[in-house]
Amino acid sequence: MSPSPLTPVDLRGQVAIITGASQGIGRTIAHALAREGLSLVLSSRSEAKLNALAEELRAETPSLNVQVVPADVSQAAQAKALVETAEKAFGHVDILINNAGVAKKVSLLQEHTVEDIDRTLDTNLKGPIYLMKFVLPGMAARQSGTIININSVAGKTAFPYWSVYDASKFGLHAITVAVGEEQRCNNIKVMGLYPGAVDTPLWSGLELNHAPDPCGMLDADTIAETIVYVLKQPGKVYIPEITMTPLQPAL
Ligand code: NAP
Repeated sequence: MSPSPLTPVDLRGQVAIITGASQGIGRTIAHALAREGLSLVLSSRSEAKLNALAEELRAETPSLNVQVVPADVSQAAQAKALVETAEKAFGHVDILINNAGVAKKVSLLQEHTVEDIDRTLDTNLKGPIYLMKFVLPGMAARQSGTIININSVAGKTAFPYWSVYDASKFGLHAITVAVGEEQRCNNIKVMGLYPGAVDTPLWSGLELNHAPDPCGMLDADTIAETIVYVLKQPGKVYIPEITMTPLQPAL
């Protein structure tokens, strides 16, 4: 009997790059994908944190194939080297999860430093663009691949005081939609995930009038399990975007 067209895909052995894996959402995605038996390439700028995570994952899943590749995604040469290292180690890349991101400041635009502006746009927008550019040739040659860009509700709604972050995420939304259309013919799925507030260390670096209410936040496990759900969809099913918000407001 042939399998049902809705039978979930077995992800074992697929190769995934996760950026921003050292903490927060990326770290939780790494745990979730390791449980599913994928081979992982963990990346961020903090080699020590990534090595510690890799050890933790190997202890949980001794058969896990995991590589640590430190890279600053805002640097094109490092983004290129990340993809090349992953392809050399595993032969190809099935999945790219563009998760690395920063929120530097919540304030009026004129109070942002030029460094904050550059860092936010370079990390949240140029980083995913570079990585898509470098991973797509291999995926197109194999006529197979999935790219998940971790966006934000700020990529759909511009919130005052978050203007630079909004701009980076609106840009990411635009390129996700455009590249998603470009790559349909190559059998490559490009999707955007648009969460509301998620309880991660990202918030501890921000100066806010009042602390966000953790009850009004999603947890990172919910994001990670949603990604597993998306990746398990059969080949013909394409989910271009998912917006997820907590039921209660966090701020
Ligand atoms: P987080 O806890 O601050 O983690 C951010 C990750 O990005 C870290 O692993 C960090 O690692 C990495 N990173 C930062 N700059 C980088 C760079 N230039 N190159 C490579 N890696 C870099 O943040 P999070 O909450 O998990 O956020 C993850 C993603 O979700 C971001 O894109 C964020 O915009 C998005 N998001 C978050 C929320 C939320 O409420 N938390 C809501 C919606 C969307 P290193 O410092 O080691 O490089």
